[in-house]
Amino acid sequence: MFSPPGRRAALRAGTAVLAGLAAGCAADRPAKGPAPSAGPVRAKPAPAGPAPAPRRFPGQPVEIGHGPRDRPEVALTFHGNGDPAIARAVLAEAEKGGARVTVLAIGTWLDDHPDMARRVLDGGHELGNHTQRHLAVNDLPEAEAYAEITGCAERLKRLTGSIGTWFRPSQTQYASPLVQKLAQRAGYPHVLSYDVDSLDFTSPGAAAVIRNVTGTIHGGSVVSLHFGYADTVDALPPLLEELARRKLRAVTTTELLTS
Ligand SMILES: [Zn+2]
Repeated sequence: MFSPPGRRAALRAGTAVLAGLAAGCAADRPAKGPAPSAGPVRAKPAPAGPAPAPRRFPGQPVEIGHGPRDRPEVALTFHGNGDPAIARAVLAEAEKGGARVTVLAIGTWLDDHPDMARRVLDGGHELGNHTQRHLAVNDLPEAEAYAEITGCAERLKRLTGSIGTWFRPSQTQYASPLVQKLAQRAGYPHVLSYDVDSLDFTSPGAAAVIRNVTGTIHGGSVVSLHFGYADTVDALPPLLEELARRKLRAVTTTELLTS
């Protein structure tokens, strides 16, 4: 079992949000930290070239829930927050299993752990925006919702040279029409949803996480997973083995949508 010091806290956080299950990606309470406009970003820009910018995928809807169904590929997508030791362990297991993943980072997490942006990109993974504080973004007034999107975008830009390739709304599986419009205004042609929910943030045990994914996944699926929960680390190696057995490759979301 993976049991870093943060495990008990992660379990507590998971228990606290069980009531929010139906909302999708309601994994944790709003992240602590200042409002998007406040607080310096201390990290220096990464020395490598800029990370990839968002792309428009012709023929795809504004909100993408899955990729082409005729392709033997899936995208594992992670809510980027929580204990960086767990995040690093998830990335290491993904890499051991030959997977490339998509990490949607919360802005306050990047403020607290700016080195994680480079760690994600250096592993060949994709990095995107999951709002500045992980509030229920659909419920915010327009100006606040926009600030939540641009606050995280600014952090990503400072750290990587790009606002990230994807935006995923916080505390919801689907963006409201307004949030879709605001994401586009902020520079993201698409909003990234998902069609498979691992429910790993409820800390149901690694076996349940694996069942939740393998029960519904098929070609083109986009799977919602989370950093910050030990079950996810434990689930990943057997999950990747099962995907390989089904001849499904775990690729970045951009790869999934690129023919
Ligand atoms: Zn989330």
